[in-house]
Amino acid sequence: MKNEIMERFIKYVQVDTQSDEASSTVPTTPGQLELGNILVEELKAIGMEDVTMDANGYVMATLPSNTTKKVATIGFLAHIDTATDMTGKNVSPQIHENFDGEAIVLNKDLGIILSPEAFPELSTYKGQTLITTDGTTLLGADDKAGMAEIMVAMNYLLQHPEIKHGPIRVAFTPDEEIGRGPHHFDVEAFGAEFAYTMDGGPLGELEYESFNAAAARITFKGNSVHPGTAKDKMINANKIAMEFHSHLPADEVPEKTDGYEGFYHLVSLNGDVELAKSHYIIRDFDHDGFIARKLRVSEITKALQAKYGDENIVLEMTDQYYNMKEKIEPVKEIVDMAYKAMKNLNIEPDIRPIRGGTDGSQLSFKGMPTPNIFSGGENYHGKFEYVSVENMVKATQVIIEIARLFEQEAE
Ligand SMILES: [Zn+2]
Repeated sequence: MKNEIMERFIKYVQVDTQSDEASSTVPTTPGQLELGNILVEELKAIGMEDVTMDANGYVMATLPSNTTKKVATIGFLAHIDTATDMTGKNVSPQIHENFDGEAIVLNKDLGIILSPEAFPELSTYKGQTLITTDGTTLLGADDKAGMAEIMVAMNYLLQHPEIKHGPIRVAFTPDEEIGRGPHHFDVEAFGAEFAYTMDGGPLGELEYESFNAAAARITFKGNSVHPGTAKDKMINANKIAMEFHSHLPADEVPEKTDGYEGFYHLVSLNGDVELAKSHYIIRDFDHDGFIARKLRVSEITKALQAKYGDENIVLEMTDQYYNMKEKIEPVKEIVDMAYKAMKNLNIEPDIRPIRGGTDGSQLSFKGMPTPNIFSGGENYHGKFEYVSVENMVKATQVIIEIARLFEQEAE
């Protein structure tokens, strides 16, 4: 299993599948279709049924039930694209067998070192096989580790018909990193009662709570006049944007919050005297807290409108995704099953809220409750990203065990 997972993983990371927020095509980049086609071929080759890739690049396949019991159809998902934070082109994966626990020189020429001083969890991987970058790209273990795990688990189940399971659907989806993954996901065509994304980080991660999320874009209109004759005439849009920001709580920002704490995050601020634009993201786990945060943004806008004129402060606020807990809690047994699968494999489950969203945040609200399971990587979205092959094997075993448990516990 270890060799197969490495082989597939290394093949996947070499295809550049970075998504692109500026693109309006679906998927946003051609590399995602390229890898999608490879996945279609592989799914067919291992013997999966109903292998499809739709016009939007969503790859789906079925592992038919091999039991006479009536078992719910469950799904496993991974996303094809990689993060936009760092280039995913020309990824050159480096394999470190029997890792010695010491600092890894990723790139000698550029002096890029993955060290236990900067990343203390690194030393816990001593003795394992790690795959890192060469220091110039991201790795793409997010989420190609999940992709390899699903593929290997399906192949294993096909090779081991003695392991009984119900119907299983798998999907590989584009554009997760830019939040569009679920937009074109055909939940009905997929036909699973619920699913798991294999898109978490280190060993044991199990998540079913995400932020409630909104974005606010505020445009401030000023009045530019020559500074020498500006008295009582100039209105500086930059300063209204700063005034707006001063009304937000200074401690409720990403760099000062963790756990279940929410925040307002000023993502960008551009402006001159005539025109300024602020872009915020608003995050809160709690439903009422989320509403209150949005209300606060509206009220600051109103106060500034009263002062500078309605037309000079324009707020556009849109919801992005919601806390999937609301949809998963009523079917909590799916989380319990993943928990039990990990316990059976001597993996300590680590249940924590996701300070972000996953495809599951939106899919749960589209009628398919979808918690998230670890895929085994660390330091996602950057050049220090790495993955333990042993933990990818464990994630694969979790998929197999979940499939087995659902059959075992069915009537
Ligand atoms: Zn991911």
